[in-house]
Order: sequence, then structure tokens, then C-alpha cells
Amino acid sequence: MKIAVTGGKGGVGKSTIASALIRHYSEAGRILAADLDVDNPCLSSMLNMNRPYKVEDAETFKPSIVAAKCIGCHKCVDACEEHALYGLEGSAPTLYDQLCSGCGACKLVCPANAIEDDRKVLGQISWYNRGNITLIEGRITPGEARSPIVARQTALAADKEYSTGVYKHLIIDTMPGVANPVAQALLIAEKIVAVTEPTLLGIHDIMLTLELSDYLGKTVGIVINKADISREHLIKLRKICAEKDVKIIVEIPYSRDILFTSVSQPPGDELKVYVRRIASWLKNTKP
Ligand code: SF4
Ligand code: SF4
Repeated sequence: MKIAVTGGKGGVGKSTIASALIRHYSEAGRILAADLDVDNPCLSSMLNMNRPYKVEDAETFKPSIVAAKCIGCHKCVDACEEHALYGLEGSAPTLYDQLCSGCGACKLVCPANAIEDDRKVLGQISWYNRGNITLIEGRITPGEARSPIVARQTALAADKEYSTGVYKHLIIDTMPGVANPVAQALLIAEKIVAVTEPTLLGIHDIMLTLELSDYLGKTVGIVINKADISREHLIKLRKICAEKDVKIIVEIPYSRDILFTSVSQPPGDELKVYVRRIASWLKNTKP
């Protein structure tokens, strides 16, 4: 089963739930985990995995303009929707590579065959292993803006590894929010566990997550973390889930014990009762 753990808002406990689920399933077989929170991956720390056994670059195409062949027509400049090419007409354009998305449109339109392939490194994809858990982690280079590409490449690497058939489950920890890198993760998942909290922002952002899941046609269940921090917002969250016919799998109280146990190594048992209920929902719910 391919499971994505997501959440509209950062800090609601998404990675805590993901790592607890990974540990739970790993007690009964081999598990593949994927950290697609490429701006801030933390599963390796939470799972106490220190050194990757394999690291690959996440790369994309970058145009290399051969000035000797260029006729200065600037068709590439006109074709570039990212405005990554600039310069005076009649001369070879210059690339501002921070803006380049690697789409390749410039190369397609060049009539002089003056654009050759170069590669741009956007980040790294790292493989870790510990006991029954293999983790594939995407990490973007600081200052780089193309998170969706790194997230997509990490998702594809995880999907390919999962297709080997040696893992019982694939559990994906997504970025918070509903931007493109989150959609990349949800696309390959069969079921989604969406974590939220009873706050105004938590309610606002989980509604966006539900919209995205609905758009992608995915089965989603809700985990309300820190459920007792606001009775008023908890009631609102319950009402929204009832109206949208979305199951609240579990409500987890705000507790120092749960907080400390989830960050200690090895983690304590305080979350286990809730994680078993999430696993039971995942087992008994159709994709
Ligand atoms: S690859 Fe795409 S984004 Fe980059 S310069 Fe060419 S057209 Fe622009
Ligand atoms: S499209 Fe090709 S020939 Fe025209 S300006 Fe760009 S690189 Fe030069």
C-alpha cells in the first residue's frame, strides 16, 4: 500500500505521525519511506538514520548556448516563459540560470542548433537503511527554487524502488501546503493521511488539502493533532469533516509526554495507541 502523510500547515505533527507509522509497520516487515519535504527533510533524523549509503544528484536540463553557431534571432528568448534568457537582439542571449526551469523550449525553437545540453544540479536524493526501513530522501540545494523537480524525482525514485516488490508499504512524508511538490507526492499515493490541528490556520489549510485530494481523486482520512487546544476550532473541524464526508481517524490530545516521546531515541510508546488506529483505518478503507 502506498500512503502519503500530508498536512496543509507546517508544525502540525505530520512528520511525527509519518515516522511513527513507519516504525509501526516496520515491526512486521520491510518498509520503504520517502521524504518529499525537500525544503526541510527531517525523517532521517527522526528515524535515527545518520549516513546515507547512496547519494545521487537531482538534476535538470540547462541550455548551453554556443555563441559561434548562434545567429542572434532571439527565438529562444521569446519562447522562454520564465524570462531566463536576456540580451540584445542580434547577439547570443545570456542565461540567468536561477530562473531557468529546464523545460527545454529554447532548444526546441532554435533554428541554428546553437543550444546544447548542460545539466544543473538542484539537490540530492539520498538512500538510508536501518533495520527493516529503507528511506529515500529528497533535499534541495539551499537557495534553489525548483522544489517540484526534486520532489518529483524523489517520488519517481521511491515509486521505482517500491515496484521491486520487497516492501510491504511505501510511506511518503510530504511538504506542508498544497503546492506542486505536495501534489507530486499525493499523485503516487493510494491513501492519504492528512494531519491538522484545531486552529484557524489549521482549518483553513486542511480545507485546501481536502480540495487537492478531492481533485486528485484520492481517499483521505484526517488526524487531528493537539485536539484539545481549542474546543471551538475542534468543533468547527468536526463539522467540516462531517459536511465533506471525510473520516476523522483519530484525535490526539496535546501532551508533553507524546511530544517528548516522539522526539526521543528510541521513541516511547505514548503514540502507539493512536498509530494503531490510523493503521487500522488504512487497512480497512478502500483506495
Ligand atoms: S530551458 Fe526553459 S526555462 Fe530554461 S532557458 Fe530554456 S526555455 Fe527558458
Ligand atoms: S534561438 Fe538559437 S540562434 Fe536564435 S538567439 Fe537563441 S540560441 Fe541564438
